[in-house]
Amino acid sequence: MKRYPALDILDADIDLLLADLDEHGPTAIEERPGGIRAFFTTAAARDAAARALGGGRRVEPIEVSDEDWARCSQEHLTAVTVGRITVTPPWLAAEPNGLVIVINPSMGFGTGHHPTTRLCLDALQQLDLAGQAVLDVGTGSGVLALAARLLGADPVVGVDNDPDAIASAAENLMLNRAASGVRFLTGDFGAVMSTGTPANVAVANLTGAVLVREARALSACVRPGGRLIVSGLLDSERAGVVGAYPGWTLERERQEEGWVALVLRSPARV
Ligand code: SAH
Repeated sequence: MKRYPALDILDADIDLLLADLDEHGPTAIEERPGGIRAFFTTAAARDAAARALGGGRRVEPIEVSDEDWARCSQEHLTAVTVGRITVTPPWLAAEPNGLVIVINPSMGFGTGHHPTTRLCLDALQQLDLAGQAVLDVGTGSGVLALAARLLGADPVVGVDNDPDAIASAAENLMLNRAASGVRFLTGDFGAVMSTGTPANVAVANLTGAVLVREARALSACVRPGGRLIVSGLLDSERAGVVGAYPGWTLERERQEEGWVALVLRSPARV
């Protein structure tokens, strides 16, 4: 059985904790009473984060099994509806109305239960995606790429640097015939996109720090006049993220539980 390196961290100041944690590249974060549980790709990355985050905080390294993950994530057992789209685990009957995305809850982040995923699902539905090239940066379970395809986008590409995420995205693609044609690629999006064609719409549900640090690479993913949907940032990081995209127009903004999603429009070529 696969085990995932994780840290349980207790800290009253969650915002500060998330900001500090961000630099250590957690692959997923779960909020827990009094703190968070953060997952890492390797035990070495987890241990480095544990050392750096230690001062004044209670930090406990743990190994989480697949089974524990599924059991602890009771919330994953329900379906979530955002606008016309319902994200459901395979064992629930499909909704008769609207667009349905079946997601098998696993390590791939993106079951629709995190506010940032919902904010992105909402933002995608505000755009006319018919025939538009869409890129999902940090696709996780593939949920946003699958949603874009159901909304008529074509071609749709999802990229993730975590091979486990891409494996789960590929599995989810098999569960969603209506979304066939989506391509999932493993790799850092900067490297993957340097060889690809820019998209009409890119959606990047990452973290505030990554959205700032990778602003150039993300900007290059979008055609002139196209849109970039960003989320994964906290309200406290909003100004920094907006400032990292000079010349872009902020077209839409929504918040849920302190999490922010922005729709930015790329400057048209002059
Ligand atoms: N899009 C999904 C999952 C978001 S979680 C949703 O909205 O629910 C963020 C994902 O980004 C993780 O799966 C992580 O592995 C991936 N990621 C982080 N940095 C990346 C990078 N530089 N290149 C590619 N993927 C990255």
